[in-house]
Amino acid sequence: MNTLNNDWLKAMQLEHPLVIAGPCSAETEEQVLDIAQQLKDSDATVFRAGVWKPRTRPGNFEGIGALALPWLQRVKKETGLLIAIEIANATHAKLALEHDVDILWIGARTTVNPFAVQEIADTIAGTDKIVLVKNPVNPDLALWLGAVERFQKAGIKKLGVIHRGFSTYQKTKYRNNPNWQIPIEVKNRFPNLPIICDPSHICGNRTNLLDVSQTALDLQFDGLMIETHNNPDKAWSDAKQQITPERLKEMTEELTIRKQTFEADESKQALKKLREEINIIDDELITLLAQRMAVSDKIGAEKKKQNVAILQQERWNSIIDKSIIKSEPLGLSKEFVSKIYKLIHQESIMHQEQVFKQ
Ligand code: PEP
Ligand code: MN
Repeated sequence: MNTLNNDWLKAMQLEHPLVIAGPCSAETEEQVLDIAQQLKDSDATVFRAGVWKPRTRPGNFEGIGALALPWLQRVKKETGLLIAIEIANATHAKLALEHDVDILWIGARTTVNPFAVQEIADTIAGTDKIVLVKNPVNPDLALWLGAVERFQKAGIKKLGVIHRGFSTYQKTKYRNNPNWQIPIEVKNRFPNLPIICDPSHICGNRTNLLDVSQTALDLQFDGLMIETHNNPDKAWSDAKQQITPERLKEMTEELTIRKQTFEADESKQALKKLREEINIIDDELITLLAQRMAVSDKIGAEKKKQNVAILQQERWNSIIDKSIIKSEPLGLSKEFVSKIYKLIHQESIMHQEQVFKQ
């Protein structure tokens, strides 16, 4: 995995992050060509369209299928855009090769399935296709990277990943939770592996698209894949999250591309000072946490003496409530404070259990 590189992306010589745009699904030849024509003078250099659609429930539109592949070939010929589709099995892979599709992406529901990934990898082995692996629906980094590895082992050199968020049982403001720490970990482990954000499937609506795209650029993602339709409200799939090519152009204008590092000396100095401040605060945090656990150990000893249960739910609820009330005016979100306190509570219980066992 240490030979993963971004040569294919560099070869595109783009002056901005890669933009992949196009409809969730190819619906008709006219729709596909109309969208592609409108995208011609945008930042998009790759046209996406779903040909086989993985739908959660049966009975919904499941894609046009292979019939749509010649439409995409027309897009490539008439607009010069590269074409990208999702493939989910060996048959799709074979048809994509036959129709000269440039970029093949593995959907979130396929990445979870090593059998499917392997049969696709075997089918396209040794070709010079660009393969982008979407994260699996569940937040499992090893499963995501495992799929990338299968393609690498099959001799695919032009690899990248797409972050499209993770499914959660509890509904949040996102259709798929971004869990940014997971793509950040991918970047830490494989700094040269291109990583593209799919804000459309993260958001599930148009409202947060700009925000999520900006976060991706702030985190130095290499590109964006944004679902774009000539009549979004009437789209046959994912209508709520698609935008017009016009809106896409506005959005890419509104986005700020961040520099990789600070150039001005003044900023460098300021950053150095701020980082030193952070280091000091982090040291204090660790010391305070250790002190807190030491007090917790003493409480554990008292509970043991009196044979009282470790878990005191009411006391704990009141700690969390008070902390949230105190931290909100300080600009800390309720979610953050309750997450931190839950972790502290768990650690505290573990400490007291150790005391009980002694
Ligand atoms: C898509 O890109 O249209 C799609 C089905 O995405 P995902 O696999 O991320 O759900
Ligand atoms: Mn979609």
